[in-house]
Amino acid sequence: MMPFPVSVCGFSLRDTSLRVFIFNPAALRSIQEVRRSLPIFPYRDDLLAAIHEHQVLVIEGETGSGKTTQIPQYLLEDGYTKGGMKIGCTQPRRVAAMSVAARVAEEMSVKLGNEVGYSIRFEDCTSERTVLKYMTDGMLLREFLTEPDLASYSVVIIDEAHERTLHTDILFGLIKDIARFRPDLKVLVASATLDTERFSCFFDDAPVFRIPGRRFPVDIFYTKAPEADYLDACVVSVLQIHVTQPPGDILVFLTGQEEIEACCEMLQERCRRLGSKIAELLVLPIYANLPSDMQAKIFTPTPPGARKVVVATNIAETSLTIDGIIYVIDPGFCKQKSYNARTGMESLIVTPCSRASANQRAGRAGRVAAGKCFRLYTAWAFKHEMEETTIPEIQRTNLGNVVLLLKSLGINDLIHFDFMDPPPHETLVLALEQLYALGALNHLGELTKLGRRMAELPVDPMLSKMVLASEQYKCSEEVLTIAAMLSVNNSIFYRPKDKVVGGYSTQWCYENFIQFRSMRRARDVRDQLEGLMDRIEVEMVSCDGDNIPIRKAVTAGYFYHTARLSKGGYKTVKHQQTVYVHPNSSLFEEQPRWLIYHELVFTTKEFMRQVLLGFVWIFPLKKRAAAFWTI
Ligand code: ADP
Ligand code: MG
Repeated sequence: MMPFPVSVCGFSLRDTSLRVFIFNPAALRSIQEVRRSLPIFPYRDDLLAAIHEHQVLVIEGETGSGKTTQIPQYLLEDGYTKGGMKIGCTQPRRVAAMSVAARVAEEMSVKLGNEVGYSIRFEDCTSERTVLKYMTDGMLLREFLTEPDLASYSVVIIDEAHERTLHTDILFGLIKDIARFRPDLKVLVASATLDTERFSCFFDDAPVFRIPGRRFPVDIFYTKAPEADYLDACVVSVLQIHVTQPPGDILVFLTGQEEIEACCEMLQERCRRLGSKIAELLVLPIYANLPSDMQAKIFTPTPPGARKVVVATNIAETSLTIDGIIYVIDPGFCKQKSYNARTGMESLIVTPCSRASANQRAGRAGRVAAGKCFRLYTAWAFKHEMEETTIPEIQRTNLGNVVLLLKSLGINDLIHFDFMDPPPHETLVLALEQLYALGALNHLGELTKLGRRMAELPVDPMLSKMVLASEQYKCSEEVLTIAAMLSVNNSIFYRPKDKVVGGYSTQWCYENFIQFRSMRRARDVRDQLEGLMDRIEVEMVSCDGDNIPIRKAVTAGYFYHTARLSKGGYKTVKHQQTVYVHPNSSLFEEQPRWLIYHELVFTTKEFMRQVLLGFVWIFPLKKRAAAFWTI
């Protein structure tokens, strides 16, 4: 069933049925007026009554109807934060948690971090006064370690439930369990218009509260033939819309930071060349690692006469709502984790998105007025090549982290844990095996002392093992820096350069093609980890330039990720899988016989990412030291 009228099956931007409309009226109204104009507002009292009546309620509403920003405020107004009790609202994505918290703080005229705050991994923007707490689903999961019954919460909202992230799925099981002995705890499961029956069924037939949405028709256009280069096709489509179509902002869906940056650069470059021949086009990226001041820009209203194009990951599918979007460009791809339970290989792969995703994306064009969605794939591909829905993450990811966490919560029988969709049996077994190999579990599958300490660190088991091993090898200063650098994704380098000189400065970063912001984040992450080291009583010591202990500590954590040079490529030691060093890596030429890698990424081939050199260079970073890795 197609949720939108399909008017043209062929990709023609010279379509004559053009409509002209006024958009973005929100920009002109006060914040309180905007609040009252949201689709959820007329249902405020009914919703509060339903919450009062039922312990668990599933709330279904179109993206942008006001679930995330309004429900916590309604609850606060209704007295759910009396006595300092908190209302928690989980988000699968960091960016969304930060952005909605900022928006709600603004709506309530309070400073972010006071009454309204957010908590994401390695960043806690809350205080004693915080009663509305937005957080990633992973952070709420970790709160179970310190507060197993979530006693300080009066309401927990599991938002964006349809995303079915690993952490959200685990939260379902845990919260269903504690709700039994905490009758005063309200549980709200909020979702876009997807899968709500399944949530209701899982929570013992909890009632579903539906917020009728407003949705304008969206015309969907397909290409006649598959696009060879979807990035270029996006750029061309944006410019065509810009010069031929009436006002309205454009939203482009790409798969990740690199693509988004490339697309934005191409757009800016072409606009520069066209100069004053075309109206102003504001090009704005949005992705997880984008600094928050840049993120906020996507919400600023477009000046008259100009047009805005937001180039986003699928964060803009349901987590964030940008007003004024009339045109959506959807190449039909997303970046997805995939896991081979046989070999234990996890990789991030660009794959076609699901039909459900494609329809959500198209829906973004019809929020304020009738819109258009340009799908850069054929109607045939939509029908035959895309999956109906996205497979829940729990069925395509490594479970090491979650198993360790559940074990530390005293949940030993994982086979019988109340999963909404159970993970594949082999994946569970593999996770247990890996934790055993790392020494986190004993031969009975029970948590060891080491395992308990590992669980305290909010990082993957291999990384936490590496950190804890640094205690024994007396190199915790250096290893913690490595851990921090590995935790800020792959965004330290503009491009690899092996000129390593200087201290810690913006200028130095700039001259050496290093992203200053990522370095700053790495430093913050390091500070956070250092605090945790104190808690698990690991002393901070430096090995003073001797890299042998560092390599030992890394190996203690990452022995599963060892590869050996073999016929032009590498073979992993554990599974004899062929993997490669990326041509951009400074090790590409060098080809050391043995390597340890952080993760595998499949782009054109299986590439090892963050490869440990045959030896590790150390360069001074203030008083500390940082190990230098190649991409
Ligand atoms: P839902 O959770 O149902 O998708 P939200 O509560 O996120 O809806 O958003 C409701 C409305 O609030 C949006 O349509 C938008 O107008 C406004 N809004 C949300 N976040 C922001 C923001 N960061 N800046 C400006 N407006 C926002
Ligand atoms: Mg929302």
